Amino acid sequence: MELIVARSREDLVKARRGGDVALVPTMGALHEGHRTLIREARVRADQVVVSIFVNPLQFGPNEDFSRYPRTFGADLDVCRAEGVDVVFHPAAEDMYAPDRQVSVHAGRMGEVVEGAVRPGHFDGMLTVVLKLFNLVHPDLAVFGQKDAQQLALIRRMVADLDLPIEILGAPTVRESDGLALSSRNRFLSDDDRETAVALSRALRAGAAELTPSGIRAAAQEMLDAAGPRLDVDYLALVDPATFAEVSESYEGMAVLAVAARVGSTRLIDNVTLTLNPA
Ligand code: AMP
Repeated sequence: MELIVARSREDLVKARRGGDVALVPTMGALHEGHRTLIREARVRADQVVVSIFVNPLQFGPNEDFSRYPRTFGADLDVCRAEGVDVVFHPAAEDMYAPDRQVSVHAGRMGEVVEGAVRPGHFDGMLTVVLKLFNLVHPDLAVFGQKDAQQLALIRRMVADLDLPIEILGAPTVRESDGLALSSRNRFLSDDDRETAVALSRALRAGAAELTPSGIRAAAQEMLDAAGPRLDVDYLALVDPATFAEVSESYEGMAVLAVAARVGSTRLIDNVTLTLNPA
């Protein structure tokens, strides 16, 4: 089957074949992490739609929107190789009318952890994801656990707004030394790359401990050991349903999340762990 590039709602309607549709939303510069999501979609649905859209709404004024990597030609090759049916690649001016007013508000979970460092980011992300859902009409959508707070908020939006879409989470794909794959990794210099491994090292060290205080301390120690090249935004141990910090007596699944700047590149990572299992 020939890969279809759709740029509008009309193109998407024409490309529709019947059967279950899976959507994989991305900002492009596709890597092995995205490919894992696409493969998950492929086995679950009759038709796979990958959206490629660098969403201006989810970038703050001092963030890297203009520098974000755009590699559309190579992305199409990846999609062809993975048997994707449709690539949805809208223009920003078609997605956002100049007089647009209504958007999605993420609520409290959008204001903590990653949301505290990037005000408005999750509102912008949820707004584009809801628009993509309304344009593509998928039966299911696949997102990476790499962006754990994003995934949790999308699940919240689907529940709170009664969206008839199944959400699948896919595990984080990593380099052999632990660094989580990211479209932004291409900006890391050799020195940055060595420093960047501290994020996953810290998460592993934390995950080997049993108590919240032990987890936080072990992870923090690894971040400190990376030295001043690593500029940490946060290290957080949170309830996956709310992204509120967990107390020492917390029981159940928790997310240990970290964000840091290495040189001019900002990286995030997380692991899920279980606290005080019965
Ligand atoms: P992005 O293009 O960075 O907006 O990411 C698109 C989707 O790919 C999101 O659902 C991300 O969570 C997911 N993703 C990004 N990096 C990885 C990774 N290393 N492993 C698994 N999924 C990822």
